[in-house]
Amino acid sequence: MSNADAFDPRDGLYADLREFVHVHGTCGEMRATSCRASIGVHLGVFCSCGGRFDGWLSVMAATALHLYTAIPSG
Ligand SMILES: [Zn+2]
Repeated sequence: MSNADAFDPRDGLYADLREFVHVHGTCGEMRATSCRASIGVHLGVFCSCGGRFDGWLSVMAATALHLYTAIPSG
């Protein structure tokens, strides 16, 4: 068991996000946005090539990653 898998592996967003970062890692600049809502945390990543990732992190996953308290609501 690896600590890297501490989040719920059923939450596929993290894997998708990693894939996006991997694919666009050489494009240049990436900007990330996040905003907290009652159902979870919305994550958006915009790449300088025009690529865009966006998805929702469940409250449970966001809490596990200490995002839910770090991101202001709105
Ligand atoms: Zn890109």
